[in-house]
Amino acid sequence: MKIITLTTILLFGSLALVSKERSGEQDRVNNQKPENNMNTLNKFEFPQLPYSYDALEPFIDKLTMEIHYSRHHKAYFDNFVSAIKGTEMESMKIEEIFANMSKYPAAVRNNGGGFYNHVIYWENMKVNGGAPSSKLQSAIIKSFGSMEEFKKLFSDAGKTRFGSGWAWLSVDDKGELFVSSTPNQDNPLMDVAEKRGTPILGMDVWEHAYYLKYQNKRPDYIDAFWSVINWDVVSKRYESLVK
Ligand code: MN
Repeated sequence: MKIITLTTILLFGSLALVSKERSGEQDRVNNQKPENNMNTLNKFEFPQLPYSYDALEPFIDKLTMEIHYSRHHKAYFDNFVSAIKGTEMESMKIEEIFANMSKYPAAVRNNGGGFYNHVIYWENMKVNGGAPSSKLQSAIIKSFGSMEEFKKLFSDAGKTRFGSGWAWLSVDDKGELFVSSTPNQDNPLMDVAEKRGTPILGMDVWEHAYYLKYQNKRPDYIDAFWSVINWDVVSKRYESLVK
């Protein structure tokens, strides 16, 4: 009888511990500040997803998020770390590596881009993500004419990118906004980019970002993307670059 009781206590005790750990993990995910993740970039650490896998439902489904983050993003990260191992790049900032991208192997370009771009992307998404700050909104109107025209330009950049790649809203070295798209895992920080600047909003248009829910209908995913932009994060990025 004593043995049974002890076993019962141990069993329930460990179940309670497991569920406590799980809820702790969830709290950590929910409370993560977006700014914290940007720090992981230069420490070359794999960042936490800033929300749960189902946080962007119904626009981006849970399974897509899980596979995208835990497999695709993780693989870019792992391959990036092994590509820079034992090289001068280990002690460089990621922006510095990108600024000299043409000097380094394709494995660094593809996987370093994949590591960085997804951190930007996860953080600039949120359901009910508000609106651009008045400062960012004025800059958008000044550069593109109106929010609607900006929306069309950015959507078209994603829709017309042949094959895999990204659409970006970035700030150039004069503090001006521009929209561009890059192939594969390139980004506007790279010296190989057609137009260079610092991205403040990124949209992944690789099939792996939408295929499970939207199949081949990339334009439907792009339309849905407008419902999950975290304008607070995008506005803060903008304001940190132009002040
Ligand atoms: Mn991706």
